[in-house]
Amino acid sequence: MKLVILSANPNLYSTKRLVEAGEKKGHEMMIVDHTKCDLVIEKKKPGIIYRGTEIKDIDGVIPRIGASVTFFGTAVVRQFEMMKIFSATESQALVRSRDKLRSLQILSRAGLDLPKTVFSNYSKDVGSVVAKVGGAPLVIKLLEGTQGIGVVLADNKNAAESMLEAFNGLQARVIVQEFIKEAGGADLRVFVVDGVVVGAMKRQGKEGEFRSNLHRGGSANIIKLTDEEENAALKAARVLGLGIAGVDMLQSERGPLILEVNSSPGLEGIEAATGKDIASQIIKYVERNVE
Ligand code: ADP
Ligand code: GLU
Repeated sequence: MKLVILSANPNLYSTKRLVEAGEKKGHEMMIVDHTKCDLVIEKKKPGIIYRGTEIKDIDGVIPRIGASVTFFGTAVVRQFEMMKIFSATESQALVRSRDKLRSLQILSRAGLDLPKTVFSNYSKDVGSVVAKVGGAPLVIKLLEGTQGIGVVLADNKNAAESMLEAFNGLQARVIVQEFIKEAGGADLRVFVVDGVVVGAMKRQGKEGEFRSNLHRGGSANIIKLTDEEENAALKAARVLGLGIAGVDMLQSERGPLILEVNSSPGLEGIEAATGKDIASQIIKYVERNVE
């Protein structure tokens, strides 16, 4: 097969691993930088021009679209779909997963548990917003944040209210969330491919840090999931329509709480923590769908 990996950076671990895993199975792997594609749209003849030549005879595409280029990247994925080429991440699911708020709405409708969350239109009544998530301590998150940047913990009511006023004053959109203390600065990353958990790790924030992101200095270890955790992760991926998903959840007294679902989950952390060849699982998933 001839497979395209949509990636703006050929040197990323995840990109390199996918190329390696595909080549090992005898496929021709091509890295295409989606930010440098031109989409040609004319009657019944959708095309993609990359570095001056038309992309042709592709069997499948694996999108690795960064959050900052979601709009254009999704248009490229959709164009491949128009050309009847299988995409490992469907364009609609990609858009959906990039909207944190919409994702939370869909997850809650499906009956999945999450930290109680409030979203308001820069409400001046910060006291009521704070009260609605059960008071402080609480977590405030920039809607557009990634890698733990823009996630802050407000210890007490005064801090919570003044932080909210500050974000509102900057017209920064935030969600306000119940703080899950018993998670202890850790979360679970569950990697799902085609309705199966292919790897799971527990990430622990560094000393004194409630955010467990590896980018914030956290560390990761392999973990065995409970049935409840596994089912929650599979359901979260399913209701968001993602064939490949990195489901993040907190372990709480009332069971697993979904934090977010990543549609371009990184391979480095999970392959290192689990010792598993997850890139090959992704290639197999594409093979099953192309054949
Ligand atoms: P990002 O998308 O930027 O990684 P997250 O929502 O995943 O933002 O938050 C970053 C980290 O902060 C999480 O991995 C988790 O460890 C911690 N965290 C986030 N929300 C909560 C919460 N409501 N209660 C406790 N810890 C949280
Ligand atoms: N983009 C990374 C992933 O999805 C984030 C991991 C982290 O925040 O540490 O795996």
